[in-house]
Parts: sequence; C-alpha cells; structure tokens
Amino acid sequence: MIPILDLSQQTAALLPEIERTVGEIYRSGSFILGKHGKALEAEIAQRSEVGHGIGVASGTDALHMALRALNIGPGDEVITSSFTFIATAEAISYCGATPVFADIDPLTFNLDPRKVAEKLTSRTKAILPVHLFGQSSDMDPLVALAKEHGLGIVEDCAQAIGTLYKGRPVGCFGAAGCFSFYPTKNLGAFGDGGMAVTDSADLAQRMRSLRAHGQSERYYHDEVGYCSRLDEIQAAILRIKLPHLDQWNRQRAAIADRYDALLADLPLHTPGRASYSTHTYHQYTVRTEHREQFLSGLKERGIGVGVYYPVPIHLQKAYADLGYQPGDLKESEKAAAEVFSLPIYPDLREEQIAEVVEAMHKAAPLAWV
Ligand SMILES: *Cc1c(COP(=O)(O)O)cnc(C)c1O
Repeated sequence: MIPILDLSQQTAALLPEIERTVGEIYRSGSFILGKHGKALEAEIAQRSEVGHGIGVASGTDALHMALRALNIGPGDEVITSSFTFIATAEAISYCGATPVFADIDPLTFNLDPRKVAEKLTSRTKAILPVHLFGQSSDMDPLVALAKEHGLGIVEDCAQAIGTLYKGRPVGCFGAAGCFSFYPTKNLGAFGDGGMAVTDSADLAQRMRSLRAHGQSERYYHDEVGYCSRLDEIQAAILRIKLPHLDQWNRQRAAIADRYDALLADLPLHTPGRASYSTHTYHQYTVRTEHREQFLSGLKERGIGVGVYYPVPIHLQKAYADLGYQPGDLKESEKAAAEVFSLPIYPDLREEQIAEVVEAMHKAAPLAWV
C-alpha cells in the first residue's frame, strides 16, 4: 500500500516545535495578523524576490484579491488555462469577469503563449498563467504580450512554490503571484491558507485592505472588501516548515529522476521538462493512451493514483454557459484524457519507488511486458 501523498513523517519531525509554538500563540492571545503572519509575509516575499506579501485565507482568495486589486470586473476578460484546478477560473468569475481559455503546450501542460495571443480581444484585461504540477509557464513571451497590449499578469503559483523560471522565482514576473498553503501543496499548512506577493506597493496596500473588509484604518472602510486572512497558527506552522522547503523540493526532483529512468520502457510519456524552468514536482504526471489499464492495475496493487484533471474547465458543467464545445481546446482535452499522477512526496523511499515501478510494469498493456 503506497498512498499518493503521505506527509506524516515530515510533520512528525517538526511536531514538537509546532506544538510549542501553537501553545505560545494561545497564551499570547494574538490569533489573526500578528507577528508570525507578518514574518511569513516578509519571508515569502523575499524568497519571491519582490517587496510585499499579503497573507490570505486560501490560494483561491489570493487569486481573487490580486484580480480585484487590478480592477478586473464585469465586462473584462482574463485569459487562462483550462487544464488546471477550477479555483483558477473561479477567481476570475468572482470578480464578475469572464475566463477565456487558451490551449496548453502538451510538453508542460502550461499555457501556450501563441494560443494566448489568439484569444486577445478588446475586452482582455489580464493573463492568468498557471505553473502546473511544479513547472513554470513560459513567462517571457507572456510578459511581452502583456506589455504590448497593456494587460496585467497574475501568476497562479499554487503548485509551484520554489520553482525558478530562468533562474528567478515564480511569482515575481506578473503584477502579483499567488500561493496556496492547502495541506497537500509542497508547503502546506494544517488547514487553508494562501498568500499573494507583489512588487507594487499600491497593489499590496489594496490587497491588504481588501482582505480585511476594505478598511484602510480600523473601522474606516473605503470599499466593500472580504474577510480573508491567514491566521497566526497557520502562519507559524508554515514558518517552521519553510526552511525545509528547498530540501523537500530537491527530494521530490530526485524521486522524479528515478521514476523517469525506471519507467522509460513503458508506453507512456514521463513529465516533459522545459529548458527554461526548474520542476518542483508537486505532481509526477505521466500521459498515456492506456490510462484506464494502468489505473486499474495500480489500484489492484494498492498504489495511490490521481487524475489531475479529468475534465478541463471549459467542459465543466459549472462553465457550460460559456458555450465551449468538445474539440475547442484540443491539447487540454487530450491531456485530460491521458494523464495520471503517481505517488510523490519527500519521504517516499527507494523501495516504495520500486514497488510503484513494479506495479506500473505489471499493469502495462500485455505487448509491453
Ligand atoms: C490548490 C490550487 C489553487 C487553490 O488553492 P486553495 O488554497 O485550495 O484555495 C489554485 N490553483 C491551483 C492550480 C491549485 O492547485
């Protein structure tokens, strides 16, 4: 039995420190927007090579606050990926704007900048690239496109904390970068949490106001805002974990290297690696025409698997009113039909990797054994 994700060991090692710190927070009585929240904002901003971090209640909210701070609203279009978690599109919808889906590069599963250019209209206000599975989108052409047309960029970095694009951290290329600390992410809290980062003092101030009911100073409200803050307990837990993040990401990459080598003889594509990005392997995602066969074989042998994502957003019932049809985004639809993800987490041991690999070979279509 190998679960798709098991963080119990990494958490066990840090538990004494976490318990001590949570006790301190309880005794201090400072539960929201206190010293840990501020310190984490500074630490994440610094790692992202920008000036400001704004802790919020989730990654979804970080995207929402960032888009609101850019004044995205009704009548506006935001171009994004359809092959992502639905929160990416929801954040656009929450603003009253319309998500416009562009197709992906089949190598990386990220937005294809040429396909983004085809979707530009007079209503386009922003581009929302997703750094899916731990690999950066190709930012240079997207930044050039945004400059040329006066658009904002908000980066969805929920799956890519620690990833570098041409040597610089994701989140520093757009007007804002948005992280999620959902427990299963590479840096996960003990509940929901998120953060937006930006180099713009104005955007930072607006997001700080928006997350706290639109107030500029206590009980003076400039606009109708939201209740979306990162609490002290989550921030403190994240600060205890953060110094280990790079090491954990290296362990993930080493496991991915092993899988790449050991699965090379099977009828599947191991994850493509773009030359311009590092990969932090939030997911180790393969693609194959034989997905159902692999999935049933792995399940039989107790190997945890996931399909991220089985239905691209443009074909989800929730977005039926946008009027997309099957065939509109060929690469996104093909990816949704072919991908599945194998167990990957920092403490996955060599013998567990071997067990997954053996199960993969046993599950493979007959002609390939
Ligand atoms: C997890 C995730 C989000 C949302 O983050 P939450 O913290 O769960 O709200 C957004 N986009 C992507 C790509 C994600 O994986």
